[in-house]
Amino acid sequence: MKAGVDFDLCSHIKSINNKIMEKPKILIVDDRPENLLALELLFEEIPCEIFRALSGNEALTQVAGNDFAMVLLDVQMPDMDGFETAELMRGNKKTSHVPIIFVTALSKEQRHVFQGYKSGAVDYLFKPVEPEVLLGKVSVFLELYRHRRGLEAAQEELLRQKKILEEVSIKDDLTGLYNRRHLNTVLRQEFERSKRYGTDLSCLLLDLDHFKKVNDTYGHGFGDTVLREFAHRLTNSIRSSDFAFRFGGEEFLLLLPQTDIAGAKQTGENIRLCLAAENIEDINHSAAVTVSVGVCSYRQQHPESQDDLIALADKALYAAKMNGRNQVAIG
Ligand SMILES: [Mg+2]
Repeated sequence: MKAGVDFDLCSHIKSINNKIMEKPKILIVDDRPENLLALELLFEEIPCEIFRALSGNEALTQVAGNDFAMVLLDVQMPDMDGFETAELMRGNKKTSHVPIIFVTALSKEQRHVFQGYKSGAVDYLFKPVEPEVLLGKVSVFLELYRHRRGLEAAQEELLRQKKILEEVSIKDDLTGLYNRRHLNTVLRQEFERSKRYGTDLSCLLLDLDHFKKVNDTYGHGFGDTVLREFAHRLTNSIRSSDFAFRFGGEEFLLLLPQTDIAGAKQTGENIRLCLAAENIEDINHSAAVTVSVGVCSYRQQHPESQDDLIALADKALYAAKMNGRNQVAIG
């Protein structure tokens, strides 16, 4: 399991690096192809990927499907001019942050000051575009973009770590089932739900028979294999709405919401048969392992508290053990 996590981490770091290192995409928009070509030539020195659009509409389509570091937007275009295009970009949450450099033939005095594009950076270039001015502005925007990507990657990594921590804190290391701490949370919720709505809730307590003998005979390493394999068969025998916990050493607990005592007994029986049907093996050992199961349900026995529900299942489990093990008993 550890190796898997390390491998995941490596590939994840790689993907973050790729994300930061990948060539930034720049969209250039002009209704005249010769202007696009001239602009594109100016970008030859900059490591970036150039995308082209010949109209405002085409630009909007491109912006919706790509993550652009910036857009160079011609102001004077037929149908939809650059300012209108920018307004529409601003109105879309997905594209509102993309910086825009307006490219205009209007003089500084005549220029329309674009207002309202508050969430993204805006700048102007005047035609004919001077290469030094273009490169200066573009490099500032690219720096902003790299900074943003770095922050996004760091934030993503934080969220991923948080998710792993949350997952680890409620799971049992060895079997991957939920741990006892999480049982307290789930049991409280499910018990309250049954009390309030009168729905059934079944509890199964399962204990591997003679597990100490397995450990003594084959060693603890194989004992762990048995626990893992049993957990695996257990998980395969329940619905996705059921909960499986490692309760103690070789004790497991199942909570089956909206399941009556007959359904719970059947589940217990299925698990018992599934375990008894096939030896548990590793390269060196093979052992026949059986399980005893105690079953109880909320509507059958009306326990007063969640602890009582477990106590009833425990009592049934004791009876299953006393009657000769490898069986399911109802509390
Ligand atoms: Mg034009």
